[in-house]
Amino acid sequence: MSVFNAYMQLSGAIDADVYRDEPLSRRTTLRIGGPADLLVVAHSYTALAHTLDVLAHERVPWVVLGKGSNMLVADRGFRGCVICLGREFARLTVEGTSITSGGAVLTSKLVNLALTSELSGLEALCGIPGTVGGALAMNAGSRDEWIGSAVRDVVVARPGTGLARLSASDIEWGYRHASFAPDDIILEATFDLVPGEKDKIARRMEALLKRRRLTQPVGVPTCGSVFKNPRNASVGSLIDGCGLKGRSAGGARISTVHANFIVNEAGATADDVCTLMQEMHDRVLKTHGIALEPEVRFLGFGA
Ligand SMILES: Cc1cc2nc3c(=O)[nH]c(=O)nc-3n(C[C@H](O)[C@H](O)[C@H](O)COP(=O)(O)OP(=O)(O)OC[C@H]3O[C@@H](n4cnc5c(N)ncnc54)[C@H](O)[C@@H]3O)c2cc1C
Repeated sequence: MSVFNAYMQLSGAIDADVYRDEPLSRRTTLRIGGPADLLVVAHSYTALAHTLDVLAHERVPWVVLGKGSNMLVADRGFRGCVICLGREFARLTVEGTSITSGGAVLTSKLVNLALTSELSGLEALCGIPGTVGGALAMNAGSRDEWIGSAVRDVVVARPGTGLARLSASDIEWGYRHASFAPDDIILEATFDLVPGEKDKIARRMEALLKRRRLTQPVGVPTCGSVFKNPRNASVGSLIDGCGLKGRSAGGARISTVHANFIVNEAGATADDVCTLMQEMHDRVLKTHGIALEPEVRFLGFGA
């Protein structure tokens, strides 16, 4: 693999911002993560396609990153290229009762446009950080309501194949699961919504935001829920039941507000977070006989 060759071919040659040794702590909400060898913000499909060709030719592994709000990046960073979507993928349009959003649009912007357009169907996403691409990849939402339910179709870039338009029924949607191929890059999605009263939509969103403020740590660096809820159980209660609220490792602490959140309190490392996650997992297994499954995505931990 030659990151240097890839950098030389991409830097200045395409409509993209290209960085070497970019600290990923700047690009994750946990504010943790070592450098990516290369980071490309592709501002057009042409730039993205060229980037993928160069990376394939130079055998550089890559991953897509949205706003890093569901990511734990290793302290040593990622030996490869992080791809982010730029300008061309940040468009948002409304037509009748449907909204089309680029993958780089902030989920909050999509939700706000639905509200101002008096369209209902995306309220459950209120308060969820990150991009629409990330939300679709994670099928973000609550335990029983998620973004996939509002999707009409999704346009993805498939390396080696080109663009593909998938209808919602081509994708399997479940709790924090969507069956995109591992190298699908979500470029755009259209949502079919239903007309609703603005006040009603706003009230539902306010109620969700209020609940979030009361039950989750706010204004501090986290990556949201670290584990998924097991069937018929609340993971926060299970961890709390093990007496782990407030437990710390290095600069990371299990939130005293919600036991399924880890807060970067003081220059925490990814290793600190992993130590806490391991303890949460092992104690819940021992106490409740349930093996927790991470919700947060890991980057850079492989061999
Ligand atoms: C305070 C807080 C509260 C949260 N609350 C919730 C919640 O209530 N419900 C919930 O579901 N989540 C929640 N999250 C988690 C997170 O915000 C969501 O999963 C979010 O949708 C991730 O979007 P992102 O752009 O940050 O994705 P990232 O974290 O950057 O990426 C997440 C995954 O998606 C992939 N990905 C990102 N963009 C694309 C793309 N364009 N194409 C293909 N793959 C892509 C990445 O490779 C990665 O595997 C919360 C997080 C925080 C910090």
